[in-house]
Amino acid sequence: MLDVLRREIEALAPDAAPLEPDSEAREELLALAASHVRGFLEELEDGPANRSWDEVFASPLEPDIAEQPRDPEDVLSYLDRSVVRPGITTASPRFMGYIPGGGLFHSAIGDFLAAASNKYSGFASAAPGAARLENATVAWLARAIGFPESAAGTLTSGGSLANLTAIVTAREARDPDGGGAVYLSRTAHHCIDKALRIAGRARAPRRLIPTDDRHRMRADALAEALERDAAQGVRPWLILASAGTVDTGAVDPLAEIAALAARHGAWFHVDGAYGGLFMLCPEGRAILGGIEQADTAALDPHKTLFLPYGTGAVLARDGQKLFDAFSASADYIQPLGESAVGPSPADLSPELTRHFRALRLWLPLQLAGVAAFRAAQSEKILLARYFHARLAALPGWEVGPAPDLSVVAFRCRPAAGDVDDFNDRLLRHVQQEGRVFLSGTRLDGAPWLRCAILSFRTHLAHIDETIDQLVRAAAALQSE
Ligand SMILES: *Cc1c(COP(=O)(O)O)cnc(C)c1O
Repeated sequence: MLDVLRREIEALAPDAAPLEPDSEAREELLALAASHVRGFLEELEDGPANRSWDEVFASPLEPDIAEQPRDPEDVLSYLDRSVVRPGITTASPRFMGYIPGGGLFHSAIGDFLAAASNKYSGFASAAPGAARLENATVAWLARAIGFPESAAGTLTSGGSLANLTAIVTAREARDPDGGGAVYLSRTAHHCIDKALRIAGRARAPRRLIPTDDRHRMRADALAEALERDAAQGVRPWLILASAGTVDTGAVDPLAEIAALAARHGAWFHVDGAYGGLFMLCPEGRAILGGIEQADTAALDPHKTLFLPYGTGAVLARDGQKLFDAFSASADYIQPLGESAVGPSPADLSPELTRHFRALRLWLPLQLAGVAAFRAAQSEKILLARYFHARLAALPGWEVGPAPDLSVVAFRCRPAAGDVDDFNDRLLRHVQQEGRVFLSGTRLDGAPWLRCAILSFRTHLAHIDETIDQLVRAAAALQSE
């Protein structure tokens, strides 16, 4: 009986062998992957920022999943042709749509190292070095936005989960039974609405605070709303401010809002997914004052620290509040508690098992140095000012407010015809040409274009080229 079982087991091992390539096969795979990455990166500078979808469907090889191994070169070529090339090239220096990130090469190496060793970074007891590195990286983020030593935080998959984690923390700390009111402006990111819903607070009393002519929350209107609620016995729970809105990059008056939150006993959350980490550079610090007084802040290293997608961060000024909202225990988990390396990431996050995210952030900070990040951020802010000033000086163009950070809203004023329709067509035209990628938004109901400058690869020549491209496209459309 046991013999039969042994023979069956032994017969399976050879079939599973393709899961463990030998050292020679590993070297070949690494070399092959490196050559595909090299090809991709070498094309970035001159390649388009947007390619048509046709290439996805033109490829003969379907993304089928087969029983037997395929030739690695075929598989990676398929990826190149049908996945990497079509659509928006977010790694391009001329990608300036939505909120760009970039995709640091150092982070890709960090992901590779983290995945190959598969360290369990959820618990200090499993991987003390990984937990220490993660805590140190989070502590560095906390210091960057001026949070005190008492802060704690966790790395999330992105800004949406960071905002959700913060809102749940605020709920547990200040509104466990519901009934408290929420204050936000129309420029809040849509993930905030989603987070309130997931957190069971979709029906919390909600006050939409008006914005000023630069799309920032009006502190005087917030004060009125808080006083009105106080007079009517409604308890303020949560004030949600933006450190850089997606639309226009506007930064709410954080210091004034912080003072109001303190006066009325409300939790103060700052969505800094786009802008918060500009605290690293002097231009950012000049406008983000007050973020250090937030109770929680959401950040997105996959935007403002140029990481590949998949890394957000949430920080709580009083780290204990995050721990209170998310720690849990079970019989199958070793008792954790405080250790020499600080809290376990799993006690500060809704997640248990997860990728060792810290490495993709820590490695580029080590290999490039923080000064390079500061310089790249300052460069982005100055490029946005430059784009704004150049376009403002060109006849036939209208620009939005001077940029707080690195997003500029603008539109063309054609000599004749409908302005809104023209700008819709202009955006489509530029996107289809594909050389640069811009996106649009609606401001006061009208379509505007936006140039969001946030890739570490974007430099002065790319901005000049973008302006030339816009001017040419507008002229072509007007002569149609
Ligand atoms: C990008 C962004 C989000 C959402 O973050 P994801 O990383 O896309 O989940 C939230 N708020 C602001 C201000 C953002 O810019």
